[in-house]
Amino acid sequence: MAKLIEPVLWLAFAVAIAAIPFTLGPFAVTLFNYIGIYTLVALGLVLMTGCGGLTSFGQAAFVGLGAYATAYLTTAHGLSPWIGLLAAVAIGALVALVVGGITLHLGGHYLPMTTIAWGLAIYLAFGNFDFLGRHGGISQIPAVEVYGIRLERMPQIYYLIWGFVGIAIFLSINLLNSRQGRAIRSLRGGKILAESLGIDMFRVRLVVFVIAAVLAAVAGWLFAHMQRFVSPAPFDLKAGIEYLLMAVLGGSGHIAGAVIGAALVALTKNWLQDLLPLVTKNSGNFEIVVFGVLFILLLQNARQGLVPLLLRWLPLSGDGRATTEPVPEMASTMLPRQALPQRMTPLLRVDGLSKSFGGLKAVNNVTMAVLTGEILALIGPNGAGKSTTFNLIAGVLPPTSGTVTFAGEDITGETSLDIASLRLARTFQHVKLRPAMSVLDNTMLGAYGRTRAGFLRGALRLDRREEALARNSAWRALADAGLADKAHMLAGNLSLGQQRLVEIARALASDPVLLMLDEPAAGLRALEKKALADLLRKLREQGLTILLVEHDMDFVMGLADQIVVLDFGQKLAEGLPSEIRAHRAVQEAYLGGVI
Ligand code: ADP
Ligand code: MG
Repeated sequence: MAKLIEPVLWLAFAVAIAAIPFTLGPFAVTLFNYIGIYTLVALGLVLMTGCGGLTSFGQAAFVGLGAYATAYLTTAHGLSPWIGLLAAVAIGALVALVVGGITLHLGGHYLPMTTIAWGLAIYLAFGNFDFLGRHGGISQIPAVEVYGIRLERMPQIYYLIWGFVGIAIFLSINLLNSRQGRAIRSLRGGKILAESLGIDMFRVRLVVFVIAAVLAAVAGWLFAHMQRFVSPAPFDLKAGIEYLLMAVLGGSGHIAGAVIGAALVALTKNWLQDLLPLVTKNSGNFEIVVFGVLFILLLQNARQGLVPLLLRWLPLSGDGRATTEPVPEMASTMLPRQALPQRMTPLLRVDGLSKSFGGLKAVNNVTMAVLTGEILALIGPNGAGKSTTFNLIAGVLPPTSGTVTFAGEDITGETSLDIASLRLARTFQHVKLRPAMSVLDNTMLGAYGRTRAGFLRGALRLDRREEALARNSAWRALADAGLADKAHMLAGNLSLGQQRLVEIARALASDPVLLMLDEPAAGLRALEKKALADLLRKLREQGLTILLVEHDMDFVMGLADQIVVLDFGQKLAEGLPSEIRAHRAVQEAYLGGVI
């Protein structure tokens, strides 16, 4: 039932949009033409900024590239506007590839800052080339022709614009509900999370950047053939900020937010144009002030935008209710699983592993070996170097010296992206989930490396078979972790203990050989700890190897086959749980430590 509401709302929206030229006057049609064009740009920003976490102030420059590309080719060379569309898409994609290739490695505030730089540079270029008409722009751009009909008047081009919007919305919704869509959403969790899942963060960023640029360029193409005239002004930084405002205002993680944001900004602009001249002569500048205030109010009061506020009133999926969907049982409906290595053969070995942070030796000459099918616990007081050792093995940090061997292969210094492909799955001491995604979607992220669908296949829904297999595999992993009834809840609504279990389910969904868990019992209640220990025993029975980092000695005593104790970065002891319990130095380290 809940699943039906979303398509019905979109259908109602489509009907309303189709009816506008018949019911409202020419003024409204013109306004809606602008809203449609803005929606395309905002849609790109919803994908890129809202879902992918890449903030761009420069999107108007891509609109300008699309507009100028078609304006130039159709006027100076008399080419068809449809050739102009191809050129707009090509130049948008090409410039995005180059600009993105240079800047998307940057993190933090540097990336948004570069978008201001290239946004300005491209805008200034429009006004400085003779062949683009400098500040005077290009006029007498021909109308688009469809089946011999020239779309000259506003109601005619209206359907062209909204046709493009409809297609773009359809493709975007599909994309977000696909393998690469989940990868885009994972980007906000940071590079360490993405790469641990086998997601090439730079590549996904680049593709989503190009998608947003192409949407903006198509908007520019429509804009040029609607206005029949282009000049640099509509593509300046102020316009870039307005586009960003649209995406944020609507609700930057939601497709519908693009339409709502574009409509609100267009209507507000229109209203201000009527109102401000009554108050001040300099209305252009005041518009900026009003939008600036709006931006600040929004960031303070409704950071998630308006769509989440509206969603509260609708019983849509992911609303936090438990589910009764059956867990799929048949192996044929899941992704194929690969064989596990022979039990008791060496799987992981670290030799003389060290890591220094400045003067601090966080890990100092640690040697240990894990056999296939056993649980090895790495314990020690806080700050002993357990997580650092973990990160050295997982490729998050390069070791200062020493080697890591996995399944007979030297993996020292390989990146976490490479290592993830070796079926080495991990969880994090500080849980890294995407709180706004459902538990099931979070778990499906684990299956990223076992699936293949690309952006296009996802957007065109050609990935449905693989998606079903991945979903079933994720269900299975959730059921193993005891979370099947929480599958449709938002991950952020679970307790910390349950979130740790989702991380384990996500790791299991990758069909791992080695499961590395960093303090999985932290924050769990006694009963939850027991359930977790049972789960880990069951996984060991299935032949999985588990490297467990724990602070809680009692938790590991009844569980681990082997224990390695770290203290101040060095190996203090190793052996069977009973040996460790009797070990003098270990008792001292723990009694003198936190426990
Ligand atoms: P554990 O997981 O055993 O509690 P960690 O491996 O997190 O310990 O930390 C070991 C030591 O290394 C601590 O003293 C910690 O402050 C330090 N440390 C960890 N990561 C870094 C880092 N990125 N930069 C500097 N010091 C670090
Ligand atoms: Mg730690």
